[in-house]
Amino acid sequence: MASEMSVALSNLHRLLQQLAEAEAALADGPRAVALAEKQVAQAEQAIEEQKQTIKANRKAADDLNLKLKTKEAELAKVTGQLNSASSNKEYDIFKGQIETAKKDRGEIEETALGAMEEIDAAQAKLKQLEIELQVRKKTAQTAKADFEASKPEVDAQVGLVQSQIAAAEKVIPGEGKAAWDRLRKAHGASALAVMEDGFCEACSTKVTNQDMVRLRMSDFMGCRGCGRILYFTE
Ligand SMILES: [Zn+2]
Repeated sequence: MASEMSVALSNLHRLLQQLAEAEAALADGPRAVALAEKQVAQAEQAIEEQKQTIKANRKAADDLNLKLKTKEAELAKVTGQLNSASSNKEYDIFKGQIETAKKDRGEIEETALGAMEEIDAAQAKLKQLEIELQVRKKTAQTAKADFEASKPEVDAQVGLVQSQIAAAEKVIPGEGKAAWDRLRKAHGASALAVMEDGFCEACSTKVTNQDMVRLRMSDFMGCRGCGRILYFTE
């Protein structure tokens, strides 16, 4: 049979565990919201960067188009010169220039086509990023709403458990109170440890026969290994 002290400490241990769980839930909510908001900001950043990429791609395509026009004008000019060539030698020179210009034009056209394709791909990616942003915004809103909806209940739970703990702590004898407060501050719910099969559950130190007797006599005492307050349940 558990002693009166042990029953009371077992109850106190359970309450401290409940408090730790409620406090963890209160901390988890804002953490989840902050994480979701960070992901929204990252998605917005990615969109901004993608827009810059598209802008740069457009500029490159514009430059290529200008280059193409210049090349066309050059080609038209040399073609005109070809028609008014005054000798076979001159004719051959112009003919060679036309061939080179045509080859250049072909290369520019190909590069320009590639640039247009890049713009298309970049725009498709932008659309994808915008969808992702909407999903992330929704996740952030849900995380926030969930936390706000559950907070009053968890706050009330914390308040209730705290008052139950205050009542349960009355079992602690006056001379042990200061040590208990330090232990609780340092270890929270694990300031208490149950004795199982003669060992401290927290640090596995064997409880001496002498201590076993003291426990059964309802002594308020710590484990010799880890200092946690011991109790037993059977
Ligand atoms: Zn221990």
